[in-house]
Amino acid sequence: MRVEIARLDNNECKFAHEYAAGELVLDDDRVALAGAPRVSGHISRTGHKVVVEGEFAAIAQTECDRCLKAMELPISSEFRVEYVTAEAYLALETAELTDEDLALSIFDGEFIDVDEIVREQLLLAIPTHAICQESCKGFCPVCGTDRNVTDCNCNAAEIDPRWTGLKDLRF
Ligand SMILES: [Zn+2]
Ligand SMILES: [Zn+2]
Repeated sequence: MRVEIARLDNNECKFAHEYAAGELVLDDDRVALAGAPRVSGHISRTGHKVVVEGEFAAIAQTECDRCLKAMELPISSEFRVEYVTAEAYLALETAELTDEDLALSIFDGEFIDVDEIVREQLLLAIPTHAICQESCKGFCPVCGTDRNVTDCNCNAAEIDPRWTGLKDLRF
């Protein structure tokens, strides 16, 4: 979904969109989207600055970091992104940037690509280490058994590798 800034009534508009399956593709082979991601928000323009505020909700499909089982992860978040044109940004730079200005994104002055914002915000919201449940035991590093299903007898796995050297010192 792209919003044409020149066409805004009173320099603002609301937006809401529900993505069809496959409409929003994340550029990340670790994560896919299930269901219908939703985004809604508000765009306003003040002088050379365009502010996009909103919220989104989606269900990410990823795999458990420990046992590699496929899992679904509901995510939702709020965002606020500020845009200026490249020319306006350069003008700011010579006039000294404030901390707030450093977070500015650049746009072409005509369109705001809401999909791009959603993609970016989604990837930020997805935890890098997702686990299916806090108690997930994952695979045994020695024999490869899924320890959620069967217990193996690899006691060696319980010994922290940093201590194996000490073990040899005991006669
Ligand atoms: Zn797991
Ligand atoms: Zn084992």
